[in-house]
Amino acid sequence: MRLLIVEDEPAIAEVVVAYAAREGYETLWAADGEAAMSHWKSEGADLVVLDLMLPKLSGLEVCRRIRARSSVPIVMLTARGSEDDVVAGLDAGADDYVGKPFSPRVLMARIRAHLRPARESREAVGSGGLVRVGGRIEVDPQRVEIRKDGSAVPVTRSEFLVFSTLASRPVRTWSRDDIIRVALGDDYEGFDRTVDTYVKNLRRKLAEPGHENGWIRTVYGFGYRIDDADPEERS
Ligand code: CA
Repeated sequence: MRLLIVEDEPAIAEVVVAYAAREGYETLWAADGEAAMSHWKSEGADLVVLDLMLPKLSGLEVCRRIRARSSVPIVMLTARGSEDDVVAGLDAGADDYVGKPFSPRVLMARIRAHLRPARESREAVGSGGLVRVGGRIEVDPQRVEIRKDGSAVPVTRSEFLVFSTLASRPVRTWSRDDIIRVALGDDYEGFDRTVDTYVKNLRRKLAEPGHENGWIRTVYGFGYRIDDADPEERS
């Protein structure tokens, strides 16, 4: 698991890098917003720790640009008590925030919580490599991205995890309980109808002529499977 740490104060960045290394994470450090974008584009990350006050390109702008292409978890570092920063960051697509000055152990706990489902899903996907659905859709666990004809589809992290779980074993029919357990983790607090909501959103985003179901077939009374069969075989 690799973290992209975007922080312009070296003393703070060093502490985060040291704690992350102790947890077994690889780290990339970017000291300004432009460096963050260039690291993101060239190497990607499993999670982004993002300071909001940055030289060159603001943390909010970095957040918007990454979120426009990816559902990677983003944890912001904000000035303590700055409710406006927190609201602006969450509006820009961040998942969570920690107020400065922060306890590195608290930050690591937040990071673990956001990475846990992604790691389980990656194991389900197998080698962690690209999975193709229907020849045109790619599921990319490294970037936490679903691409259609090479362009990223804007899905949330939970939608990504549900689709990548289905795609990891395309011949299997998955019950809603199994989708929750594998995609979202045992401690997920949703309920099985939540899966239907994710599937509904995925279908809206992935549907195309001839594949109005967004490559996800409903197996009545049981659950879902990837709909990757020839049109003649589809019922
Ligand atoms: Ca700063």
